[in-house]
Amino acid sequence: MIAVGAEMLTEFRTETNSLFVTSQLNALGISVRRKVVVGDDEDLIAQTLLASLQEVQIVILSGGLGPTSDDVTREGVSAALGLRLELDAGVIEHLEKLYERFGYRMTENNRRQALVPQGATVLRNPRGTAPGLFLKKGDSLVFLLPGPPRELKPMVVEKVVPLIREHFPVRVRPSRQLRVASMAESAVDARAEPIYKQYPEVETTILSSPGVIDLFFFWGGEDAISLAESRLDDLTAEIKKDFGKSIFADGPDELESVVGTLLREKKLCLATAESCTGGLLSKLVTDVPGSSEYYLGGVVSYANALKTKWLDVSPRDLEEFGAVSQRVAARMARGICESTGADIGLSITGIAGPEGGSLEKPLGTIFLGLFDGTEPKVWEKRLPGGRETVRLRSARLSLDLLRRHLI
Ligand code: ATP
Ligand code: MG
Repeated sequence: MIAVGAEMLTEFRTETNSLFVTSQLNALGISVRRKVVVGDDEDLIAQTLLASLQEVQIVILSGGLGPTSDDVTREGVSAALGLRLELDAGVIEHLEKLYERFGYRMTENNRRQALVPQGATVLRNPRGTAPGLFLKKGDSLVFLLPGPPRELKPMVVEKVVPLIREHFPVRVRPSRQLRVASMAESAVDARAEPIYKQYPEVETTILSSPGVIDLFFFWGGEDAISLAESRLDDLTAEIKKDFGKSIFADGPDELESVVGTLLREKKLCLATAESCTGGLLSKLVTDVPGSSEYYLGGVVSYANALKTKWLDVSPRDLEEFGAVSQRVAARMARGICESTGADIGLSITGIAGPEGGSLEKPLGTIFLGLFDGTEPKVWEKRLPGGRETVRLRSARLSLDLLRRHLI
């Protein structure tokens, strides 16, 4: 994988396309031998491609296909492989239509995007201007893909994976994913290990992110797919039985979409009141398309005055217990529920750091409230990590508490 783009050699941009490409290739049983980030430099692109072709049979380049003069992936690849660049009439037509639709005049440099190395196949890009390109060099395959992740991802799924499967007898490795919420990585592993150890043919990978732990099981043996599938089903059934409610998804679903499905099924609507998470909970909930069906909205009541004004938290409670307290979390959840008419209110108040901790309420102290018209429930947590981690953990924990409440 060769990611092209000078911005990814600075501290400001992270290279992520290779992560998606890797996940798609791994699912085909293909492992990634090397990943490189190079600047927008024709010679460097050419050199890196030639060196890669010595080692591997599939090279995927991303980025640098745009219209500006610093986009030189096409030129680098053509130079490396000794191919002429030719204007492609089909691509020009696609570009003309696109520019017309957006009411722009196509400039001369836009035509550069229609340059195609001799013999290359154009991979249409309905989501952007620069098409992808596919080339064969001996027995090896070379792909040039657009840099923007929202253009690259569908192209990998729709074009690259089928082309690879056409050219190589790939063996799709059966796998399973289970997602665990609100548990520490070490606790997940300690509990899962005695179970997955009984399946020596399965490779287990545990990945942790704040508030969510993923268990991946890959079939390592050469056996028939049907045997592999049924052994993996047995393994995941055992793990699910042992973990119970802690497992929220059997597959890649996010916590927020699982919660959304539950709310929709139960015809309940939600509102949120956040302090230290500054709207992150609301952001996660609304990341799910169609969330307007069950999410009314929420407030970010950072200042005490707004907790009183918008959520009816009494100044006396704020004074007596402090903004980060069981009482205030309960009042916030109730307040948002009552002012919006939601069925369920969630609240978060806490100390995300790096300052503001005390002996009694150290950094990472969080109170999560839930009100459903009966008695408010509040959970107190001490969360590890820096400011961002504590905030993400808090928002996810809140979603998980709601999920557990609903099932
Ligand atoms: P465009 O027509 O948009 O210029 P392009 O193929 O030239 O397409 P780039 O200019 O290299 O793509 O990148 C466009 C955007 O995509 C940039 O914002 C860049 O940061 C992002 N991007 C490019 N490559 C990657 C990558 N490997 N990982 C994450 N983001 C990337
Ligand atoms: Mg570009």
